[in-house]
Amino acid sequence: MAVGSAISSPLGPASCDKDAKALQFVEETTRNADLVQERVLAEILARNANTEYLKRFNLNGATDRDSFKSKLPMITYEDLQPEIQRIANGDRSPILSAHPISEFLTSSGTSAGERKLMPTIQEELDRRQLLYSLLMPVMNLYVPGLDKGKGLYFLFVKSETKTPGGLLARPVLTSYYKSEHFKTRPYDPYNVYTSPNEAILCPDSFQSMYTQMLCGLIQRNQVLRLGAVFASGLLRAIRFLQLNWTQLVHDLKTGTLNPRITDPVLKETMTRILKPDPEMSNFISKECSKEDWEGILTRIWPNTKYLDVIVTGSMAQYIPTLDYYSGGLPLACTMYASSECYFGLNLNPMCKPSEVSYTIMPNMAYFEFLPHDPNSAGCTTRDSPPKLVDLVDVEVGKEYELVITTYAGLCRYRVGDILRVTGFHNSAPQFHFVRRKNVLLSIDSDKTDEAELQKAVENALQLLKEFNTSVVEYTSYADTKTIPGHYVIYWELLVKDSANSPSEEVLSRCCLAMEESLNSVYRQGRVADNSIGPLEIRVVKNGTFEELMDYAISRGASINQYKVPRCVNFTPIMELLDSRVISTHFSPALPRWTPERKR
Ligand code: AMP
Repeated sequence: MAVGSAISSPLGPASCDKDAKALQFVEETTRNADLVQERVLAEILARNANTEYLKRFNLNGATDRDSFKSKLPMITYEDLQPEIQRIANGDRSPILSAHPISEFLTSSGTSAGERKLMPTIQEELDRRQLLYSLLMPVMNLYVPGLDKGKGLYFLFVKSETKTPGGLLARPVLTSYYKSEHFKTRPYDPYNVYTSPNEAILCPDSFQSMYTQMLCGLIQRNQVLRLGAVFASGLLRAIRFLQLNWTQLVHDLKTGTLNPRITDPVLKETMTRILKPDPEMSNFISKECSKEDWEGILTRIWPNTKYLDVIVTGSMAQYIPTLDYYSGGLPLACTMYASSECYFGLNLNPMCKPSEVSYTIMPNMAYFEFLPHDPNSAGCTTRDSPPKLVDLVDVEVGKEYELVITTYAGLCRYRVGDILRVTGFHNSAPQFHFVRRKNVLLSIDSDKTDEAELQKAVENALQLLKEFNTSVVEYTSYADTKTIPGHYVIYWELLVKDSANSPSEEVLSRCCLAMEESLNSVYRQGRVADNSIGPLEIRVVKNGTFEELMDYAISRGASINQYKVPRCVNFTPIMELLDSRVISTHFSPALPRWTPERKR
């Protein structure tokens, strides 16, 4: 089939045979959502019938929904800890999955301060690959001509470790980029990247970012889309350009490579790509030296049609900054996925961020939904076991928590995401990502909950004891005006002996003490990824939190039920707090972090 001639598909005219097949697959799978779900569950239960886990619940080889639903409990990561620990320690017996666990994927969700370890099996790579293969065919329905240029994507691998039993533990994207699926992907004119594999796969984050940026600059006129996984990642790349453009421009002018690029394979690759181009170098230098970086992305990459980054969930906080740097280019959120399982895709990727809905693909896993009452604490009692709803039975407008049963052996596992049904594509529901449960603060992939923040404050308080000083009240704020963003903690102090009040030095050490007790994803963001800036304490005047309460009550809060919000982002509240700040303090050093896990 000639490129450019449209092939009809129920989703729209596909641009080539390959796209038509992919769109056909989406159609068929969503049309038969319930049947596909039934088949997926039967497949999972049949192959795992002899696992220790399924035997424990006396499933006796049954593969039907009723037996499954009546016998298997809904669980959280904590419930599976013992099994996961045994697998990590080297037990290769079929505990959760009949297929051997090929590696652990380290989630950005944490348990006891460490990344959760998600067991996975080799064939899951095929399933992830399948979901990826649907993204461009859908995008091509909305943006023509993507085969006429390239995508500048900032993609990175992160450090990996081995569990005591010798299994690799690494993030899902690191696993994917290092797989043959990615490294030896067949040429697809609609999906060509400016970054060579060697740059993406370089474990040193500076060298990787530098060379990806350099390749993006060299091919600036061919770039049709710009992206990173999350919005925070693309902003980090812009910040990198701000900090490094003079050296990049030098390399472009002379055709020589920054000596900080020392990885031999990467150096070799770059030598082949880099040629002196004084004209381009001058142009970039002129643009970057301007005081005002508004619209910088479209100035440097003038043919960019959209930014491909996730801006749903906690990433929505970056939309205004992305708009500023891109001059308001469309933002495309293409997929919804996790370490546990890849869930689905956005069938209308050029829609406004506030309207993004993800269609869960029924072939990826068996999906159930726990009704979530936005007004309740979300507790379920023993007397009334929660009734889980099947994929095709969810109701438009209602909120649910996602519960999955995967091929790798997670059974009725609570992911922790709250989703709202916005509609259906055929019989597959589409969901708005509402939020992740229990997340108070998030800058990048870090997720800090209320208990972790409380513990961090308590940790810092130890340093104030000798000054007879305590923290009367506190709240927090994710400040994303800086790149990278950082946590701000507002403290109201009670200094009992003003002659011996804590010094500036002590208060900055309090910042570091808080960082030391935050979870390892936060600390990795600070230390290895440079995706989170130093934590800041803003000390506010005495009486500020009482004013905050007065304000809340004036807006209708009940005096009896008023609780200090542990995180704020409502502008009038921020203005009130900031107008009462008497001193600010930043973490003076990096917290401790190593790729090794505590457990
Ligand atoms: P991880 O466990 O580190 O793989 O992170 C997976 C989590 O990231 C999901 O459970 C969601 O909470 C979040 N996430 C992934 N994709 C999206 C998306 N498209 N929009 C909002 N949040 C997302």
